[in-house]
Amino acid sequence: MERLICTGKEGDFLVIGGQEFNHLKALRVKKGDRLEVFCEGRLFLSILLSIEKGYALCKPLEEINIPLPKPEVNLYQCIPLELRLMEEVIDRASQTGANLLIPLVCKRGFQKLSVVEEKLERWKKLSLASFKQCKRPKPMEIGRPIRLYELEAKEEVSLVLDNFSAEADIKSLDLTKRSYGVLVGPEGGLSIEEVETLKSKGFKPLFLRPYVLRMEMAGAVATALIMNLAGKS
Ligand code: SAM
Repeated sequence: MERLICTGKEGDFLVIGGQEFNHLKALRVKKGDRLEVFCEGRLFLSILLSIEKGYALCKPLEEINIPLPKPEVNLYQCIPLELRLMEEVIDRASQTGANLLIPLVCKRGFQKLSVVEEKLERWKKLSLASFKQCKRPKPMEIGRPIRLYELEAKEEVSLVLDNFSAEADIKSLDLTKRSYGVLVGPEGGLSIEEVETLKSKGFKPLFLRPYVLRMEMAGAVATALIMNLAGKS
């Protein structure tokens, strides 16, 4: 079933306008067709009531409550120097099931927080686009950027992906926990000091076999492995 994002409400009806309306037309959804509409953080099975000039009206029939997959994987992604690579990171992390992505300012990554803040709206839109495509129960959240040194280990298992010094691989992890935090370095990798600081805060270094991955691949691979080896939906 097609999934669209509402752009507003008209009484009890959900409005699909703007680019979403163009998408609806491209999908050739017709009056009377059923579709899933995401509105104000909730997903509704809906019926297309009418197509007007520039927008469509849908009637919500029932709320769709799909349980969230377990475990929860939160990604802490160092912002790459090549900022556009974050777009690939977001799409892949969303598809593989990450719950939340927090952009991190780190030593060898992109430094200007103000520029990153300006990108947040675009990144959230990409997360929504991926949510539509891969039929997640809810969109991957994008958090506000923070500095790597401010980060604390919050999940039951906190991991730092480390292609240099890590002794642990995925098989040595405790995969029975409910939440995992996964930190990924930028293109040039993490500095030794950063890895040591993270270790002192309880982050466990993890190596992904067998080769060095591109940053935009590493977080998604770790997420997919944890979701599949540890996850029960
Ligand atoms: N420039 C680094 C080098 O020469 O080894 C590579 C950095 S890699 C492109 C970017 C980040 O992805 C790393 O900091 C790490 O967090 C993660 N990463 C990539 N491959 C990995 C692997 N095989 N195991 C664990 N982490 C990996």
